[in-house]
Amino acid sequence: MITNESINAAEVMALDKEYVMHTYGRLPVVFVRGEGCFVYDAAGKEYLDFVAGIAVNGLGHCPPKVVEAICKQAGTLIHTSNLYYTTLQPQLAKLLVELSGMGKAFFCNSGAEANEAAIKLARKAAKASGNPNKSNIVTAEQSFHGRTLAAITATGQPKYQKSFTPLVPGFGYIPYNDVEALKAAVNDDTCAVMMEPVQGESGVHPATLEFLTAARELCDKFDAALIFDEVQTGLGRTGKMFGFEHFGLKPDVMTLAKTLGGGFPIGACLAAGKYADTFEPGDHASTFGGTPLACAAGIATVSEIIEGRWAVNAAEVGEYFRAQLATLPGIKEVRGLGLMIAAEFTEPIAKDMAAKALENGLIVNPIGENILRFVPPLIVTKALVDRAMATLREC
Ligand SMILES: *Cc1c(COP(=O)(O)O)cnc(C)c1O
Repeated sequence: MITNESINAAEVMALDKEYVMHTYGRLPVVFVRGEGCFVYDAAGKEYLDFVAGIAVNGLGHCPPKVVEAICKQAGTLIHTSNLYYTTLQPQLAKLLVELSGMGKAFFCNSGAEANEAAIKLARKAAKASGNPNKSNIVTAEQSFHGRTLAAITATGQPKYQKSFTPLVPGFGYIPYNDVEALKAAVNDDTCAVMMEPVQGESGVHPATLEFLTAARELCDKFDAALIFDEVQTGLGRTGKMFGFEHFGLKPDVMTLAKTLGGGFPIGACLAAGKYADTFEPGDHASTFGGTPLACAAGIATVSEIIEGRWAVNAAEVGEYFRAQLATLPGIKEVRGLGLMIAAEFTEPIAKDMAAKALENGLIVNPIGENILRFVPPLIVTKALVDRAMATLREC
């Protein structure tokens, strides 16, 4: 057995290769411990983590309040079925509803599941229209909505879809930020328009105000649900509590996951207006959705994001970081909102730079050949940005 005291990295990697399905092209590092903005490998080497579990560790690694809430709840009640009431699920729902101005919440365990719930919700709501063809969902090219079959169908990237056809019927794609294409795609048969306020996975592309405004107007005109996938943008990441707040409009349905549990798996689908009461008993469910343990982690995380004003920190440090990145040699463009940032280079150096950075104790995420993505913890400081910049310059 491998214990923390006797970790042999090569042994771990060999074990993983033999027994874990090869769904990930893992980097050759074994992490064993984390604290704040840092993680440590099997040899005790320190890494400044600017990936943060892909925008999951919003409060950094092992945030004390979340650890305390999880430990306390783990000794009280971990799970019981959604056939019964538990105390924390409605409390987390109230917290999220009041924070977002939505109406009601459904809890699940991941971003993809939250989007599945949103898709089913929009399809069911459209049944009341009397138009039997009102089932189409418009999403964007280069989007990312997760890996279940409906979520890869919603994801407008053929590379995620091609091995798994036939896909779910009823989805159509338009170029992101193309208002004319959106107008041409939405009609009486549309039940939902589903968009990320900032596209994350494909390289951090913020929506334009014109595009989301048009989406809001078209959804109102054709009685379709405007769904925002805020799995990555939600809960402070963009420098505001939710991505939609940058655009002066609100979605009908919104999905959350990533940061929501401070590292503990939990997802949520929030819905407003008539969509809040679309689901009835039997329509949708999740065995693990919103367990006492997950909700304890969620309440502790969201409360700390609010009390620590970490969205404001994300806005301030994010702006500073973007200005610094723009001074790197070979930069073509720096994009992003808050602490959801991409640096695009003129040369295909992203993979090399990320590998060298890892060697030098900095974790960053390459996207394609030319882009580095940064989604550090919301608690990151300017001093740590300076440290990351020094490492990036060396690379
Ligand atoms: C990560 C992500 C998802 C998928 O979340 P999972 O928890 O991996 O299922 C969905 N949408 C967006 C925008 C994401 O960034």
